[in-house]
Amino acid sequence: MLDIFKYDLAIIGGGPAGLSAAVYAARGGMKTIVFEKSLVGGQIVVTAEVENYPGIPENLSGFEIAERFRQHAVKFGAEIRDEEVRAVGMEGLCKIVETDKQSYRAKSLIIATGAHPRKLQVPGEAKYTGRGVSYCATCDGALYRDKIVAVVGGGDSAVEEAIFLTKFAKKVYIIHRRDQLRAVKMIQERALKNKKIEIIWDSVVQGIEGGDLVEKLFLFNHKEQVISELQVDGIFIYVGIIPNNELVESRVNLDGQGFILTDETMHTNVPGIYAAGDITHKALRQVITAAADGATAAFSAEKWIEENRDNF
Ligand code: NAP
Repeated sequence: MLDIFKYDLAIIGGGPAGLSAAVYAARGGMKTIVFEKSLVGGQIVVTAEVENYPGIPENLSGFEIAERFRQHAVKFGAEIRDEEVRAVGMEGLCKIVETDKQSYRAKSLIIATGAHPRKLQVPGEAKYTGRGVSYCATCDGALYRDKIVAVVGGGDSAVEEAIFLTKFAKKVYIIHRRDQLRAVKMIQERALKNKKIEIIWDSVVQGIEGGDLVEKLFLFNHKEQVISELQVDGIFIYVGIIPNNELVESRVNLDGQGFILTDETMHTNVPGIYAAGDITHKALRQVITAAADGATAAFSAEKWIEENRDNF
């Protein structure tokens, strides 16, 4: 039968999930293309050190790990294009990927578009973004040498990045809305032992003020019902992530927060469309689980194409 499809597999997103899928698919002989609109690596490129990816005990930076993933995918013949995907369509079983440059046809598709940081949505946040408000300690931490900063959130990202910021800042406040951190115990213990870190419990940021740059935060302690001011030079916001689902939100089933629902083969509800990594509904968001999702999705896509070879 004449094969009218240019690619067996199109992957949207060049983070650990998308690139692992590319490694497995290309190594398995599938003609594979990956679209990444910005830096290959996804959210991991802004992680200072990755210390829990098995087999790499030497704490490489997220950027270095992402580059290894990229090289590995390219080694097996995956094409990586820095094009922004604008739309995803279907013609029968065929998937159409429209980028800012052209259209591509593929038999199967993996959505690995990840997530982006949630905003606090308080007065001053937008005004001071880039002038004291940051969502990336790895990018901006060095600007706060011997200064005072606050980190908002109680999850792995907030606590890990607070520890990282103590390399530069003389004082790091963690502002958390509850009286218990969500981050894993080992990281919590490290933060609690760090003399530069002070945790402000049961409190939320209500506003950010300053002159040209951030100078102070307004905090509300909801247990004591007290509003206070905190002098800081910078505020790093780590209050969770929002899935990058715009391309497929009307097409695939999502959970209540917008993460894509898949079965255990990473298949969505649409034939031949898979999802992998942080964009999916899952219990644990890590490089290793993203990589595992990518491998599973590529394997499943290959099987699905084989099962449907007479239907294209
Ligand atoms: P997260 O686990 O969802 O934590 C978000 C934190 O922000 C929570 O402590 C939450 O408080 C707080 N929060 C949410 N909305 C808030 C608001 N409006 N005001 C104040 N606080 C708010 O998000 P994350 O830390 O970015 O992590 C995302 C995922 O990546 C997680 O699955 C995480 O495990 C993973 N991750 C893993 C690593 C690692 O293993 N090395 C590193 C980074 C991230 P509550 O606790 O009260 O809900």
